[in-house]
Amino acid sequence: MPEEPLASPLLAGLIGRGILLSRTPAMHAEEARHQGFGGTYRILDMDEPFRADATLAEMLRAAELGGFDGLNITYPFKIEAIEHLDELSDNARAVGAVNTVVLREGRRIGHNTDLWGFAESFRHNLEGVATGHALLAGAGGAGVAVAHALADCGIGRLSILDSDADRAARLAEQVQRNRPGTEAEVAHTAEALIGDDRPDGVVNATPMGMAKLPGSAVDPDLLLPGQWVADIVYFPLETAFLAAARAKGCRVLPGSGMAVFQAVRAFELFTGRAASPARMKATFDTFDR
Ligand code: NAD
Repeated sequence: MPEEPLASPLLAGLIGRGILLSRTPAMHAEEARHQGFGGTYRILDMDEPFRADATLAEMLRAAELGGFDGLNITYPFKIEAIEHLDELSDNARAVGAVNTVVLREGRRIGHNTDLWGFAESFRHNLEGVATGHALLAGAGGAGVAVAHALADCGIGRLSILDSDADRAARLAEQVQRNRPGTEAEVAHTAEALIGDDRPDGVVNATPMGMAKLPGSAVDPDLLLPGQWVADIVYFPLETAFLAAARAKGCRVLPGSGMAVFQAVRAFELFTGRAASPARMKATFDTFDR
């Protein structure tokens, strides 16, 4: 049955710092255009000099008064946003961070679509892989969402490695509390773990491998062909770590999957309409031409 057309075009935006090159606005605007209602998705970069004195609270209020359907929230506001909301989804509460805010009838509802985005890209691209044990490198903002997503994808045991061991320990406790079906623990070195207690898969959620941070948190020489490897870094689209894993014959999941699927879910929350992952991925990919 065809869906009802939206009463008005989509009006949404992204609040963060240093976000002028984000691909998210184009994914939303193109999807809205394809679905026939069109709309506008604004970049609201808090690094713009004319917003130097603006607060997150003021930005949220202005969007609400301006009739926005919702906002995406990115670095460095994902945690701060929570104190300005009326309601949180279960995923946002578990992760303790919000990347999507739905504005509806005077209420602000916070979601974490990074979690669902990683889980959904995992389900689409790594179907059928072994899920007994995974090693997650990186327990920062994105790592928290990825750890919960891995639990939701059925990972039985999750070893967490971070150069800040306290952060890894806090995340292990958080996962254990929120997802008791997954056994979470701190990994002190990748070498020992991979040598003696080889995981089925390895996920990089550190910024290592970005153009400005070459190298990798886990030595790719430790990988074996039977393992699966995911990287959430997507600048560059294929990190050296992922390229090395692919060359070894590992099944790989690039960071673009999470970036596209977080937008798919946010679009659905803003509009109440299903989005096409293939179409949003195609828009994401136009940036490489
Ligand atoms: P963050 O700074 O909050 O956390 C990074 C964590 O990695 C920190 O805890 C740090 O101690 C740890 N770390 C850094 N180098 C390490 C190393 N060599 N070994 C072990 N641990 C190390 O950053 P974040 O917001 O979590 O983002 C991480 C990366 O994920 C960034 O590159 C970001 O662009 C990317 N990201 C991708 C998506 C996506 O949709 N694909 C979404 C969010 C973030």
